[in-house]
Amino acid sequence: MTASDDDTLSNSVTPSEGIEKIVPRLKKRRFGPLKVSNQIPKSRRLEIEKGLEESTKISTKWTREGGVSNHNFLKKRIKPGTIRNLHFNLLDIEIGESWPINITVVHGVRPGPVVTLLGAVHGDELVGPLALTYLSGPNFIGEDHAIDPLSLSGTIRIVSVINLPGYFRQKRDFPDGRDLNRHFPGNFESNTTSRVASRIWSNIISGSDYIVDLHSAAKGRTNMPQIRVNLAHSSSNATARAFGIETILDTKGPRGSLRRTANESDIACITYEGGGADEADPEAVQVAMYGILNVLRNLRMIPGYPSRPRFRILASGSEWLRSDQGGLLDVLAPAGSYVKKGEIVATVTDPREPGISHDIVSPNQGLLICTATYPFVTSGTPIGHLLPMKRGIKALMGRLDDEGCLIISGSDGDPPWREDDEVEDISVVGGWSGGSPDAEWGFNHKPSEEEEAD
Ligand SMILES: [Zn+2]
Repeated sequence: MTASDDDTLSNSVTPSEGIEKIVPRLKKRRFGPLKVSNQIPKSRRLEIEKGLEESTKISTKWTREGGVSNHNFLKKRIKPGTIRNLHFNLLDIEIGESWPINITVVHGVRPGPVVTLLGAVHGDELVGPLALTYLSGPNFIGEDHAIDPLSLSGTIRIVSVINLPGYFRQKRDFPDGRDLNRHFPGNFESNTTSRVASRIWSNIISGSDYIVDLHSAAKGRTNMPQIRVNLAHSSSNATARAFGIETILDTKGPRGSLRRTANESDIACITYEGGGADEADPEAVQVAMYGILNVLRNLRMIPGYPSRPRFRILASGSEWLRSDQGGLLDVLAPAGSYVKKGEIVATVTDPREPGISHDIVSPNQGLLICTATYPFVTSGTPIGHLLPMKRGIKALMGRLDDEGCLIISGSDGDPPWREDDEVEDISVVGGWSGGSPDAEWGFNHKPSEEEEAD
């Protein structure tokens, strides 16, 4: 099946000699695969293609042949088919606060890769901790659940909160004021954050084959769910696509970031961004869980097929929208909005100058992937992050909600973590005419024993 751009499809009617001909409806797949990869310039596309060619080798770290063995992790031997909850001290000390973090390890009965799921590398970003807490709970892990150690291939390590001191202080950084996500692979003799990074690197990251690092926008803004990945790194590229959502930003990541450092050691790593700091954004949590399960399915670690989005925006560049005035911001187009060129995205007013309002307009058509949530602005404050789009507009417009926001794959439908007793049971009282639900359709259909037992 070749990819087709929906824009080229149309029903053409040719009137001939005054007789109106009935043209049969053009056969068109209702959910045709669409690719919107042309947001990436040609030079970068060539780099990505080269990266994918170079690393066609299969990972030597694990193989499905040879059977399964214990998973050795943090000086523990974890038996196949078991779930373990472990503690790991971020600092290796005898006295003082060592910051013990929780790690859930699910080791499957069949060989497979080691996947590490991380939340709250930035302590105030709560979408990751929420998604991973639900995912480690009894609704998802256990016999006959999505992650069943008795059928799992490979190993899943879940670290809901990495930056524990930041989390307790509701701060992004470590207590020494440093950003953990700029200090990998760390140094055990250097500053506090570097020591922590070094311990995380050597104990948790370096033994992983795949990493999904869950983040949210920094304080004062919010992100539409999106993936950030170096598309030229083959296994990361595949993981980003497997996550199953629409928007993928092609970046290497900042120097010292977990993602960039992992890629330099040929470990697949993607960053998920959704919601904002200090926010329990339920949609971003839901999409995070949806994406992780897709990644696990794609690696054939858990049963089932991964869900795919209807299109993907692979983006290599963006534009920042800034306020040219100071005052209070009113954002009209929330994160996730499709905006047209010249559309008013936000207004700025000054309570000391009533009646005067300044508009901030979009310089291009595209998708607004991040917007400010903090209302105080000065001239130059960024208020939005736009992915300018030249093509794929029709595909995008087909997935907008009533307010013009992209419906992210995995966000529609009810939250998967809902408990059974939260589900309202609605009784419909009556009897089946003819004895079974389909009896009146006829066809001399005799219900089988199985149907009758229903
Ligand atoms: Zn972050």
